[in-house]
Amino acid sequence: MFQTKEISTAGDLLRYFPYKYLDRRSLSKISELQPGKDKVIAGKILACGMAFAGRRKIFEIVLGDGTGTVSLKWFRFNPRHMMGSFKKDMGLIASGEATRFRNQTQFIHPILEIIDADVVDEIAAPGIIPVYSQIQGLGQKLVRKVVANSLRMFQGNIEDPLPPEIRERLRLPHKEASLQDIHFPEPATSLETLVNHRTPAFKREIFEEFFFMELGLALKRKTLTREKGQSIDVPEEKFAEWETRLPFRLTGAQRRVLKEIADNLREPHPMNRLVQGDVGSGKTVVAMLAAMAAIEKGYQAALMAPTEILAAQHYKAAQKLFAPFKIPVALLTGSLDASEKKRAHGRIAKGMFPFVVGTHALVAEKLAFKSLGLVIIDEQHRFGVLQRATLKEKGDNPHVLVMTATPIPRTLAMTIYGDLDLSVIDEMPPGRQAIRTRLVGEKARRQLYAAVGEILSRGDQGYIVYPLIEESEKLPLRDATRMYEEIRRIFPRYQVALLHGKTPQDEKDAVMRSFKAGDIHLLISTTVIEVGIDVPNATLMVIEHAERFGLSQLHQLRGRVGRGDKPSHCLLVTGLASSNPGFRRLEVMCETADGFKIAEEDLKIRGPGDFLGTRQSGLPELRVANLIRDYKILEVARQEAFAWLERDPTLSMHAFAKETLRRRWGEKLALADIG
Ligand code: ADP
Ligand code: MG
Repeated sequence: MFQTKEISTAGDLLRYFPYKYLDRRSLSKISELQPGKDKVIAGKILACGMAFAGRRKIFEIVLGDGTGTVSLKWFRFNPRHMMGSFKKDMGLIASGEATRFRNQTQFIHPILEIIDADVVDEIAAPGIIPVYSQIQGLGQKLVRKVVANSLRMFQGNIEDPLPPEIRERLRLPHKEASLQDIHFPEPATSLETLVNHRTPAFKREIFEEFFFMELGLALKRKTLTREKGQSIDVPEEKFAEWETRLPFRLTGAQRRVLKEIADNLREPHPMNRLVQGDVGSGKTVVAMLAAMAAIEKGYQAALMAPTEILAAQHYKAAQKLFAPFKIPVALLTGSLDASEKKRAHGRIAKGMFPFVVGTHALVAEKLAFKSLGLVIIDEQHRFGVLQRATLKEKGDNPHVLVMTATPIPRTLAMTIYGDLDLSVIDEMPPGRQAIRTRLVGEKARRQLYAAVGEILSRGDQGYIVYPLIEESEKLPLRDATRMYEEIRRIFPRYQVALLHGKTPQDEKDAVMRSFKAGDIHLLISTTVIEVGIDVPNATLMVIEHAERFGLSQLHQLRGRVGRGDKPSHCLLVTGLASSNPGFRRLEVMCETADGFKIAEEDLKIRGPGDFLGTRQSGLPELRVANLIRDYKILEVARQEAFAWLERDPTLSMHAFAKETLRRRWGEKLALADIG
């Protein structure tokens, strides 16, 4: 029976933690119940149904706990709901004010919680009761008993997978003590501490879970860094020389990251590095200088972007940068015709193009490089792991650099991209104008149009964005279309264009090109406008139904403006009242321009799964630990795990830890070489 929950050993059972606790310490026995506020009782339903109180229809439940009975009464109620929700023999916890009426104790409109009926029988014993998620066919009482028996049976024999040296130094309880305390907490424990997993026992379990995950990641990374690769050894002076050819000076952060990359390239092992930087922080130029190093040493470099328009943008930037060095650049996208493609493929295979920019077209089977030494992937969240791997296959263990503007708190990034080294560009190029962000009420259309008119008359450009709602794409489409008509009517002298999910790709590209060229002044669209698009003359971003977006997404959209030296504005239009929590959430956008801070707020609200999109995020499934709530413990666990592997590279000092690692993460992390 236990096997339905993948519980086949006593060890599994002990790791089957309660999902909540009942605080029986505050419960009153019905026989001892005194009238008063905030009383809590538990019992079984002895009878329930409609009744009359005088001429008034009421709903009544008679609840008994073996010591006595009380009456629960409702004067306002939905008959169908009440009749449907409560049945004889159900277990209930009721709380509220107890009063006396004709010698009977009663609660009027109590707060109810339905509980497992067999919890009720143990009402006499005080304490905190664990509640387990349902195991088919087994009552709570039985599960509790089996857990208690197992703990007793294995007393003194439960092995601890954590190395004792670490456990003692961090003052973590022994495995056995922590299991005991999680299943049957000390009666003095505060329920809040318990529910928030802040007891020493829970903290220990959280640490343990993180520790083994990080140990697996550390091992994985070690394997990767042992692979043989091509050393690209370019002296620092070279980079400094190339920098003088740029139209600007690198920021300190760009220079630091470039050095981290150059140090990797020098190694005879392939680099695997993620560069994270807020929108506009200047990741591209850093990547291109890395490409320059590869090219200098006779290798080819390839940059893959998620869309044609982004690829074209990178292509132009690369042409400008590489022209003085007479380095030809190729652009490879899906829109080349067959003969153009063939010619490009031929030249790339001969090594005539040292730098190749492209879209997914780069992973095409037929494409081969002469000597691919560096692979760069832009906006990596748009690509699957497989595409990264396929492109990598086209070289002989080339160095890999991935770039992302999704600002993820450092520890979380380390966890998700555990096999990658992380660089952060945490500084904006100088001279960037702050983007002034304001919330605009749905009804303040006039203000909105005034803002639009103002930037248009200045010769600036702007975006108006609608959310894309999955269940019904029609709604925002209609809204966007209506807005398009309205704006065209109000500003007849300006060019307005409409873009949405159903616009054909070539038309989309054409519109984006005209917008970049300044021929279109206002772009009205759903969220299809490209990430990473760089139009310095755009100074206004209007986002309708702003409450429907995640904060990080709003931040990304907002990053489309403020890319030049002119002051920019972002207007978040919302119908929410200012008292609504959703409205207050949006206010964060007005208060900070720091993508990392915004991401953290977002993570607090939505959790990492929603934030990154659970499916493609590759987030590990955790049992007790929570990446956001417990990030401090994660940091410690990571340090300890990496340090431990340094001291004991083959994990031979602690057999049970090695076994635990293999069992928990061996398969998930494809750890080949744990013996
Ligand atoms: P992102 O990190 O969002 O990909 P980009 O690489 O597109 O940002 O850079 C945004 C803009 O900033 C580009 O126009 C780029 O030329 C410019 N830029 C990059 N680095 C600097 C710098 N150090 N000083 C001034 N401008 C810079
Ligand atoms: Mg970019």
